[in-house]
Amino acid sequence: MKIKAINGFKDILPDEAVRWQYMEGVARDIFERFGAREIRLPILEKTELFARSIGEATDIVEKEMYTFPDKGITMRPEGTASLLRAFIEHGLHVQQPVQRLYTIGPMFRHERPQKGRLRQFHQMDVEVIGASEPRVDAELIAMGRMLLDELGISASLEINSLGCPECRPGFRRQLVSFLKERRDRLCRDCDRRIDTNPLRVLDCKNPDCRSQVQDAPSILDALCGPCDDHFAHVCRNLEALGVAYSVNRFMVRGLDYYTRTTFEFITGDLGAQAAIGAGGRYDGLIEQLGGPALPGIGFAMGMERIALLMEQQEVARPGPRMDLFVAALGEKAAGHAFPLVHQLRRQGLKVAMDHSGRSLKAQMKQAGRVNAAHTLIIGDNELQQQEAILRNMETREQETVPLQGTVTEQAHSLARRVRDNS
Ligand code: ATP
Ligand code: MG
Repeated sequence: MKIKAINGFKDILPDEAVRWQYMEGVARDIFERFGAREIRLPILEKTELFARSIGEATDIVEKEMYTFPDKGITMRPEGTASLLRAFIEHGLHVQQPVQRLYTIGPMFRHERPQKGRLRQFHQMDVEVIGASEPRVDAELIAMGRMLLDELGISASLEINSLGCPECRPGFRRQLVSFLKERRDRLCRDCDRRIDTNPLRVLDCKNPDCRSQVQDAPSILDALCGPCDDHFAHVCRNLEALGVAYSVNRFMVRGLDYYTRTTFEFITGDLGAQAAIGAGGRYDGLIEQLGGPALPGIGFAMGMERIALLMEQQEVARPGPRMDLFVAALGEKAAGHAFPLVHQLRRQGLKVAMDHSGRSLKAQMKQAGRVNAAHTLIIGDNELQQQEAILRNMETREQETVPLQGTVTEQAHSLARRVRDNS
């Protein structure tokens, strides 16, 4: 019996890993352009951390977490809570008034696996802590946009404001009385949410619930003066940066800790898994977790969904994988090639060689399979003349090259030719 991976846990095979490496490289570069520094965090945290931050009555905490009940430990379902836990624990705010941090890694949620929805998935998370100005919101959203742009992914941007502890309770009461009148027309989950998490009803995907909330009061009409002002400035600052957006008053987000600005990058190319990345402001959260009273804002991008879109849009197709394939014909040639290959690798080239003494034809096939840019053919005859044949696999041009001097010298001149030739 073959052992297979667990449902919802996926291997990322080498051809795909090329896309992942590219995605991560672009992301790190952009995050660092904005001054963010990497922080690496553990995967297991105390369950209480997520209950206190994400919220007891959210889908994630209610039913999606992988928890070891006897140990009070959970596999993190998202990155923000862990990042803030570390931020508070190490007093990072003392170093610098505004901190920009990012982290990349796996997250775990017990959901129904589908295309673009896994139980182990990966996020790229960025957080800006210690700044409450609306320019910071716009700057962060624009960074997300820049990342998707540079990865060649088209997505629309939706924004909303969820208000603050001053104005949200009033809106919540208004909404609850609106929803109670329609209770019997809502889905079973939403019927329950009226009492536990009424705002979530606004972004329920059930078509009946959707049509019921069309005339619901809008949070944007209920914002207090400062929240209203903040939202207006975020919009204006996005315009200043040339970032297009639309306002979606139904966007609520599934985590309790958000205040004021929330946003999502949406695609139409992944079926029901429309959200590529999402985030928002969480001004009370750090204090709620026992830290200083600092504001914060962040987002998380879903890497599986980005990788699927990159594949659909043929972004980052792998180029030549190996610089050189060395085809040695006969035992003597192989004995010469063996240390030469090692030296070429020390000089920074990606080099492959066959060790099983196959025919020239078989070795040329292998060179094609590893997608080598060049092949070096060494036969006994050539060896006697201290020469070899260098073939450019793309143009199919061949030239005779000298193999003279020490192995290091041979490797040096070969490496130069290969580099000049590509
Ligand atoms: P969704 O509405 O698709 O469930 P979400 O609101 O739960 O998304 P967040 O918690 O905001 O998602 O996480 C940010 C991003 O992480 C999402 O936009 C998505 O791209 C990605 N993501 C979330 N859950 C999964 C999952 N189970 N599998 C793959 N990617 C995911
Ligand atoms: Mg979800």
